[in-house]
Amino acid sequence: MDLDFDREHLWHPYTSMLDPLPVYPVVGASGVYLELEDGRKLVDGMSSWWAAIHGYNHPYINEAVERQLHKMSHVMFGGITHEPAIELGKRLLSMVPKGLTRIFYADSGSVAVEVAMKMAVQYWYSKDKPEKNNFLTIRKGYHGDTWDAMSVCDPLTGMHGLFGSALPKRFFVASPSVGFYDEWDDAVFQPMRKALSEHANELAAVILEPIVQGAGGMWFYHPRYLSELRRCCDEYGVLLIADEIATGFGRTGKLFACEHAGISPDIICIGKALTAGYLTFSAVLATDEVALSISRKSPGSFMHGPTFMGNPLACSVAFASIDILMQSGWKEKIAAIEKQMKQELAPAREFPSVADVRVLGAIGVVEMKEPVDMAFLQCEFVAHGVWIRPFGHLVYIMPPYIIKPEELRKLTSALLDILN
Ligand SMILES: *Cc1c(COP(=O)(O)O)cnc(C)c1O
Repeated sequence: MDLDFDREHLWHPYTSMLDPLPVYPVVGASGVYLELEDGRKLVDGMSSWWAAIHGYNHPYINEAVERQLHKMSHVMFGGITHEPAIELGKRLLSMVPKGLTRIFYADSGSVAVEVAMKMAVQYWYSKDKPEKNNFLTIRKGYHGDTWDAMSVCDPLTGMHGLFGSALPKRFFVASPSVGFYDEWDDAVFQPMRKALSEHANELAAVILEPIVQGAGGMWFYHPRYLSELRRCCDEYGVLLIADEIATGFGRTGKLFACEHAGISPDIICIGKALTAGYLTFSAVLATDEVALSISRKSPGSFMHGPTFMGNPLACSVAFASIDILMQSGWKEKIAAIEKQMKQELAPAREFPSVADVRVLGAIGVVEMKEPVDMAFLQCEFVAHGVWIRPFGHLVYIMPPYIIKPEELRKLTSALLDILN
């Protein structure tokens, strides 16, 4: 592989062009393994950033893509509809939190967030309250890299210092400090309540990641925060947008993380695992109230419509992936992964360099006291036959659900060995 070309000409995510971190040439991926050019096989601990929940090169999904490919890979969604979009829609409605009935297919997670935020603004416009056009969120969030998504990312890790002068100004309150497994403390919700009461008349919506804050810090917060938030949003007349792009499709031990709190948002964003790591795709689902209200007021339609909306290939992949998920005994599998990670990562708590170890569903996190040397750790992990990509203070694993206990043990033992 021409790694010199790569180094000279290809941008990788968050990587310098002057002094890029090493990249590893991968020539294939199958099941839970990534195959390097030199023939080594690595156990995948990342699911390609939450996406590849069934592992790679899955025969059933491959077949679904091929079948669809020979019918049509794409047609415009304006004025046209097709079976893959309809059948996927039916599946989605049968799984998402109740009350979400109207589906907008979009291109990627970040675009889903843009769409959701536009929906919220257009909803209040339709209610003759155009001044309700801003957003409130919690710190340490991550919602993507496009403009509006970035405006609600954590101001520090989201680079508001760099882009801030050009970003819309949003309202932020502290990230919920009570952990998922801790005892609830009402005081933790007070800043959110206060911000809602003070700014309700300028707020279109609160947007946040339910239960798991992902790329902003891999933090798991208490479900009570979310149920309080749902109540409070209703009280103050502010919509609730749940960004389930990372958490959706079983990752936290529930199909959607909102279920931990037994709530339904007004708008939900899904992506990543939606297409099992095959194609870029996302969806935004809204309630009847949001969708119908938008349509009642001129211009009478929601003002967004991407070229690749409802892409049939992506819809077919998503349908096949949900099929596999629902027949896989996902709940038991993820519970078993959680139990094993809890046991096997626990010893890291005793390491002097480790600040915290936490596990929820199929997400295992070791938080270090100092930022890690990414290039060094990555190289060590590869030498141990595993693919784990740390960032900042965090070394974490979120394997494909199909991982076998001995493969998961390889991930956890490599992690322990190297961090020790
Ligand atoms: C990854 C992610 C996004 C952005 O999705 P992209 O497909 O990378 O644009 C948005 N929100 C959350 C919670 C994510 O984890």
